[in-house]
Amino acid sequence: MKTKREKNPNILSLKESRTILRSNLAEMKKYEKAKRKKVTPEYFTTQLQDENNILEVENLHTYFYTDSGVSKAVNGITFSVPKDSIVGLVGESGCGKSVTSLSIMQLVQAPQGQVTNGEIRFATRDFVLDDKGKRIPIYVTDEEGNVVYADKLDKKGNPVKDKNGNIVRVPVQARAEDGIPLYEMKEVTYDIAKMPTEDMYRIRGKDISMIFQEPMTSLNPVFTVGYQIEEVVHLINPLATKKEAHERAIEMLSRVGIPMPETIVNYYPHQLSGGMRQRVMIAIALVGNPKLIIADEPTTALDVTIQSQILHLIKEVQQQCHASVVLITHDLGVVAETCDYVVVMYAGKIVEKGTVYEIFDNPLHPYTKGIQKAKPTFDTGVDADLYSIPGVVPNPINIPDECLFKDRCGERCACCEGTYPEEIKVTATHSVFCHKYKK
Ligand code: SF4
Repeated sequence: MKTKREKNPNILSLKESRTILRSNLAEMKKYEKAKRKKVTPEYFTTQLQDENNILEVENLHTYFYTDSGVSKAVNGITFSVPKDSIVGLVGESGCGKSVTSLSIMQLVQAPQGQVTNGEIRFATRDFVLDDKGKRIPIYVTDEEGNVVYADKLDKKGNPVKDKNGNIVRVPVQARAEDGIPLYEMKEVTYDIAKMPTEDMYRIRGKDISMIFQEPMTSLNPVFTVGYQIEEVVHLINPLATKKEAHERAIEMLSRVGIPMPETIVNYYPHQLSGGMRQRVMIAIALVGNPKLIIADEPTTALDVTIQSQILHLIKEVQQQCHASVVLITHDLGVVAETCDYVVVMYAGKIVEKGTVYEIFDNPLHPYTKGIQKAKPTFDTGVDADLYSIPGVVPNPINIPDECLFKDRCGERCACCEGTYPEEIKVTATHSVFCHKYKK
């Protein structure tokens, strides 16, 4: 007699696939429509909870609508980045570190990837606009406070004349040291999760910039490195002349320690070593004097000696520019050497966060202890097997509301059943998400 074949839970039926597809399309349409909606700046203007922070991420959810279901890559994370500090985001591959950084930059691959919930509050400076929505220039004044006027020049540098043959005089706009024309600015906090893409263009690359993982794939192979830096100069300062942009490119290359910047500026990426390419990436990230730099595994593609130089450079520029850095890495050695604060992520959630001393001297979450144990030390024998946390990261699709580490945890007990653990504050800066520490 024929028996009914049991359904393989790992294979979707045609009906299930269609249901997922329909629901995905509806959700993606909803989020894309919301992004195109015309909004006023008040809609995405917000307030920081702590004035000492530059960035506050609260309850951030970033989902990917895939053919197999909704992948919850970042599933409700909350952390902050204090001013003038380096925050390390650590965790194994696939835990949501890079998706967090892409969400902050509004670079998640849409329409499949969407920030579905949460706030990304970023303290920045923005232009003051007049009644017509135009920027208000700052003019050069003399000792008595009167605006200084000069002849208006055409593109060839010749004075412009009016209908009566008189030379047109215009007020002289003030410029910053790097040649950028000055406008009236105001301190403001924006919620990047709500910000329309067009408004994001004003702060991305200028106030927040990113150093990508692999410079060879991030730099354009058909343009010289100088051209690629000049492109950013023109983006930040549309009035910059070609000569000014070129000089700025040379200055940036010299600032990141590239020898003979006047020559290297004309090189293509393939003519440079890995370390030099990464320095060029850092130069591009620094052109706008950003307040926040996101470095996504900046040393992964480099050999160990160059890694250390690049880390020192990042730390140096952070101190020089008084910027904050979010350093994404899976290398705890890098974190210990560079960071002030650490956020440990696992399966799209934060499992522990604290200062670098709290995380290294007193790790609490079994996952944090596991990744520390997995790091080879000088005491590790040459033939000794390296420790690895048993098991694998859970599938981010259909993720349950419970401790996501419990199948791999050596400290699991009866108290671990139930919903995802609440945040338990150990000190003002150190907190852990684990049932074991419930009082
Ligand atoms: S809640 Fe329990 S299972 Fe989860 S990490 Fe803590 S001790 Fe391990």
